[in-house]
Amino acid sequence: MGKKNLLIIGVLSLTLTLSYGQNSIKQNDKKICITVDDLPAVTYGSTNKNIKSEITTKLTETFEKYKVPAIGFVVTGKLYDGESVDSTNLKLIEMWLDRGFDLGNHTYSHFDYNSVSDTAYFNDIIKSQTVLKSLLQKHNKVLKYFRHPYLHSGYDSIRSKSLNDFLSKNNYIAAPVTIDNDDYIFAEAYAIADKENNSSLKREIGVEYINYMEQKLHYFEEKSIEVFNRNITQSLLIHSSLLNADYFDELADMYRKNGYSFVSQDEVFNDPAYSTHVTTYNKQGFSWIFRWGLSKGMNQEIMDNDILVPQKISEILKK
Ligand SMILES: [Zn+2]
Repeated sequence: MGKKNLLIIGVLSLTLTLSYGQNSIKQNDKKICITVDDLPAVTYGSTNKNIKSEITTKLTETFEKYKVPAIGFVVTGKLYDGESVDSTNLKLIEMWLDRGFDLGNHTYSHFDYNSVSDTAYFNDIIKSQTVLKSLLQKHNKVLKYFRHPYLHSGYDSIRSKSLNDFLSKNNYIAAPVTIDNDDYIFAEAYAIADKENNSSLKREIGVEYINYMEQKLHYFEEKSIEVFNRNITQSLLIHSSLLNADYFDELADMYRKNGYSFVSQDEVFNDPAYSTHVTTYNKQGFSWIFRWGLSKGMNQEIMDNDILVPQKISEILKK
């Protein structure tokens, strides 16, 4: 090899190193917060007695491994057995706190704000907070965050204001979702495959799921750029399911590969996009990126071309 070739290789590798270096700086800019709903767990009628414990253990272990400062939103009614809190369920919630994760209120009964009165909804939030507040206190944490079931936050300005007033009076911050998705459809299909002990179908669903979630990520990155001219801190909603317990490591790898680092619910609010005032209302519970875009006067078309669940996955549910 001549001196000239060596020089070319030298220059090439220097260029590669420089551009790689630039990429890694740029990549650190992308942030995502992982929020997990419906704690302790969604089991889809699994007959495995240990399923809730398995889901909780796997999820929190993977979050620890990938240094994901996740937050879990608890449906407190699911902890009860009759009039009192079931100690096994309580241990699952405590596992989140023991491992350093934050928890938020997702109501007691998972009520839909579209279909119950203000009084019923607000009482349900209060009923949920009694258990949560004392649990968080034991771990030197304060209950701050609220997640709307179905992301329904008031279908008109009156109901939206009424709920926002209630939340702020009770020192809650509503946790927005930017990457909304149908992970629960994959999760139900996965639970069916699990019940049938069909490991090849489980793997197939898992692979489809990661692929779908990557497409969703790119879709909401594009939407973010349309609304804010930049990629804002993303907030992902997933559910506490066996699918996510088994696949969060691959999900985490996918986000990392796309240049993301994981941030906490607290850090999300450092992004000024989250201070955008919402002035349009809808019965549907869609991504806050759309709410912010519509409030900035953008056309409904911004919601077009969303990524759909592949038919072969939804068909598993119909069987
Ligand atoms: Zn929920």
